[in-house]
Amino acid sequence: MPDHDQPTYDLVLTRGTVLDPASGTNARVDIAITGSTIAAIGPDLAASGARVVDCSGSTVLPGLVEGHTHIFQHVSKVGAPAEEAHLRRGVVAAADAGTAGASTFEAFRKLVVDGTDMRIVSFLNVSVLGLIDFRFGELLNPDTLVVDDALAVASANPDVVRGFKIRLSEDVVGEQWESLLKKSLALSEQAGLPLMVHIGETAEPLPAVLEHLRPGDVVAHCYTGKPHGILDGDRVLPAVLKARERGVLFDSAHGKSNLSFEVARRAIADGFLPDVLSSDTSARNWRGPVFDLLTSIAKLVALGAPLDECVRRATVAPAQLLRLDGEGYGRLTVGGRADVTVVTQTDEVMLPDAAGGSILAPRLEPTFVLHNGAVVETVPWRGAPA
Ligand SMILES: [Zn+2]
Repeated sequence: MPDHDQPTYDLVLTRGTVLDPASGTNARVDIAITGSTIAAIGPDLAASGARVVDCSGSTVLPGLVEGHTHIFQHVSKVGAPAEEAHLRRGVVAAADAGTAGASTFEAFRKLVVDGTDMRIVSFLNVSVLGLIDFRFGELLNPDTLVVDDALAVASANPDVVRGFKIRLSEDVVGEQWESLLKKSLALSEQAGLPLMVHIGETAEPLPAVLEHLRPGDVVAHCYTGKPHGILDGDRVLPAVLKARERGVLFDSAHGKSNLSFEVARRAIADGFLPDVLSSDTSARNWRGPVFDLLTSIAKLVALGAPLDECVRRATVAPAQLLRLDGEGYGRLTVGGRADVTVVTQTDEVMLPDAAGGSILAPRLEPTFVLHNGAVVETVPWRGAPA
């Protein structure tokens, strides 16, 4: 057969709506893949594909980036399995948010980071213990915050440690929240990395915490329904808006108990979207109420957040925060990584929040997932009746 009859591309995704916030693409174009690389993006490529996948009626997204999860399986009681919870539901890169501390990091690296082809990074817990068991606050003994240990792990693992994490709940830090927060900020400053601060169950009103934070630091659980959240009635607190203006970032981090539809609805109506839209998946919530990142996106869309803005906050925005954008994550680019998540809107289902609320809304189901050019075997939605 002469050369011009050979298909040009291994695979072409055709007839879908490509939504790539990084490039501003939101259009009916085809994506062609050769090997592990996106070879072309444009109209009418299907005739040149050895294999063609019809994406009619679906939205074609970059492989998703999870900005906040707990995947230290086998060591932490809260650790979910990375691939089953994430990759097989359309997520190709993820940041573990403080499940590992300096004393357990070597195991995290071996079991989790090296145990998958997903790209895994870490916000290292400032306590050397990390989050092994949620029943016992890791900073109740404040001596477990060992600055030198955290700095040593961060400097020996710059490819993985992309920040630090402190859980500021009262049952984790006791009365010493302020001195522990200051120490954590000092160590983050020394390492040149951001600090992620978990709110919800904090003893102090949020403005007292925010005034300590630096540009680039992250407030996790911004839509929590617990006391000391971001709202005053229907409006976002001025101190929260001021912190955002300074460059403090807000992460939605759904989790087992930190997404209230009431709070999210009001905040979205007041124009306040999270900077990072994350699921805060863990072994405690991945079978509900969280399920997965796409369900977390669908919930905020149902509450009034635009889909493209939500996708941005689960692709290029966390990729930039985690410094994975330079590796090609979070976007669809010719010559870039062939990580693609094709999603289809389902019929309406009852979706729970983490505060006793629920809404009837469509979900987003990953119908075709490509990771580094290879087709991923997806798993069914974990909320579906068995
Ligand atoms: Zn978390």
